[in-house]
Amino acid sequence: MLEFEEALARVLAVVPAPKSERVRLSDAPGRVLAERVRSPIDLPVFDNSAMDGYAVRAADVRSAAPDSPANLRLAGRVAAGEVFAGAVKSGYCVRLFTGSPMPTGADAVVMQEDTRVDSNAPGEVLILGPVGPGANVRSHGEDVRQGSTLVEAGEVLTIGRIGLLAAAGVAQVRLARQPVVGLLATGSELTEPGRPLASGRIYDCNRATLATLVQRVGAVPQRYPLLADSLAGISRALAKAFEQCDAVVTSGGVSVGETDFLKRAFERIGGRVEFWKVAIKPGRPFAFGRCRGKLLFGLPGNPVSALVTFLLLVRPTLLRWQGARSVALPAHPGMLAEPLANEGERRHFMRVRVDANGQIHSSGTQASHVLSSVAAANGLVDVPAHTTLAAGTVVSVLRWEA
Ligand code: AMP
Ligand code: MG
Repeated sequence: MLEFEEALARVLAVVPAPKSERVRLSDAPGRVLAERVRSPIDLPVFDNSAMDGYAVRAADVRSAAPDSPANLRLAGRVAAGEVFAGAVKSGYCVRLFTGSPMPTGADAVVMQEDTRVDSNAPGEVLILGPVGPGANVRSHGEDVRQGSTLVEAGEVLTIGRIGLLAAAGVAQVRLARQPVVGLLATGSELTEPGRPLASGRIYDCNRATLATLVQRVGAVPQRYPLLADSLAGISRALAKAFEQCDAVVTSGGVSVGETDFLKRAFERIGGRVEFWKVAIKPGRPFAFGRCRGKLLFGLPGNPVSALVTFLLLVRPTLLRWQGARSVALPAHPGMLAEPLANEGERRHFMRVRVDANGQIHSSGTQASHVLSSVAAANGLVDVPAHTTLAAGTVVSVLRWEA
């Protein structure tokens, strides 16, 4: 039985190199960038006003005060999107709005609230206080310099990065190709949700969670019909999935029972099981194999085991496949609000809920068939074998939900 770290290292060691494709920015969120993107332009593109107000020469209003305002002549008006044709001479100002380009000659903006216009003299503006040079001006290039890196290769295109790329005028990006991941659920007891449930049957929930997990890492799930526990049927389905997909994730049938056909079926289609069993709870009977350069992840059928082994072993692989820089689950420290006890001899990835104050609670019963405690959880805590972590202990939480 392999330790978790060794199992992960062995899987990551055989991940194929990423391929790339050009994609419209609107189709890119959540996917991994295949090459560094540099900014084609400066941001801000030009000096512009941060306020609704008046462009002035700071020297003209140096001694302005409410009881002795500076009196400037209005030379014009520049709405956002327009450009002032002339230059602002001493003694003059120009009406501006947030985002209006700074007119030549002006070096500061007085906000509208610090001015007064007399309706009898609409061509004059009273400035009620001084501003320094550069006040309320957003400077050309202060945010991003042309040629500087906007996003590094291997980074995921998050919401903020998408916005930054769009602001720089980037409409297409080169992304890692998305691996297509076949999802097979095996078990003669399984029924498609939405259909009536015969006695002795249960609904399949693994393809639903696994498809979501696959999508979350920017890969493409391809679901296959439910499979009864039969060597011939599972072999046929595996052969088809390995033809059509880059990787195949199965659930169930990977343990030691005589109806557990997954490994045999995989070997029958020419696959090789690289390892079987990892010293973790839940999820010990996890199997990893290769077939003509493609990868098999044989997850245990228990929904919690399937989820945890996906998060710990499949998710990093799919990310590495896309050239992602960081493949581990996001983690942060938090304090246990209650003890977490692991009496077993394997490390236990326990389901927890991190509350709004960062305190960590068990999300409920930890048995590997209990789904309500999965639904209540947003993280996992790795509890070593034969260990009780006392309330108040600071631990690292692996996050898989917000
Ligand atoms: P197995 O790994 O096939 O021995 O299955 C372990 C447990 O998980 C059994 O109780 C199965 O009924 C259950 N199980 C297997 N596959 C699924 C599935 N796709 N959805 C829900 N439960 C499952
Ligand atoms: Mg089974």
